[in-house]
Amino acid sequence: MPGRLIVITGPSGSGKSTIIQALLQKTDVQFSISATTRSRRPGEKDQVDYIFVSPREFQDMVDNDRLLEWASFNDRLYGTPAEPVKRRMAEGQDVLLDIEVQGARQIREKYPDALMIFISPPSIEELERRLRQRGDTPASDIQDRLEMAIALDVSSDLFDHIVVNEVVDLAIAEVVDLITS
Ligand code: 5GP
Repeated sequence: MPGRLIVITGPSGSGKSTIIQALLQKTDVQFSISATTRSRRPGEKDQVDYIFVSPREFQDMVDNDRLLEWASFNDRLYGTPAEPVKRRMAEGQDVLLDIEVQGARQIREKYPDALMIFISPPSIEELERRLRQRGDTPASDIQDRLEMAIALDVSSDLFDHIVVNEVVDLAIAEVVDLITS
């Protein structure tokens, strides 16, 4: 049986990364490593957290149809390399994509059966409070709020489930349940 595609979307400040880390430990889903033109943050590893590429290399991937989906976010490009995802699914493994809303929409069109989950903070106010606390840049702050607004607007069509992350352990349990049930 081919593996499933699992998409997790949510603004930074939603706790999405924490939830994904827990999922990777608690289930046998495989994380899809995205290509990006943004620069590496301290602690991030090339080919582990992301495949860090130049804008030219990214364009090559687009031109050669090597990305399953891609989008621009905060003026940087992000995309899912198609080959590893297709290979793993063919091998029967479930693959997890951590992508933003425009990418999620492209995946929904190509893979109507994908399991798509949106991780939401309890409220826009709480999202803003978390982002302020993290000291994120104003630019990403704006894009994340936009993301949240768009996602809430389209979520009923696009996402199969919205998980409100009020208490992270409960949110993790909920997502594990969605994936394994
Ligand atoms: P960050 O730069 O904070 O790691 O990620 C910024 C946003 O890009 C996050 O919402 C993340 O989910 C999204 N993202 C990461 N990889 C991809 C990808 O391959 N495609 C798309 N469309 N979005 C991605």
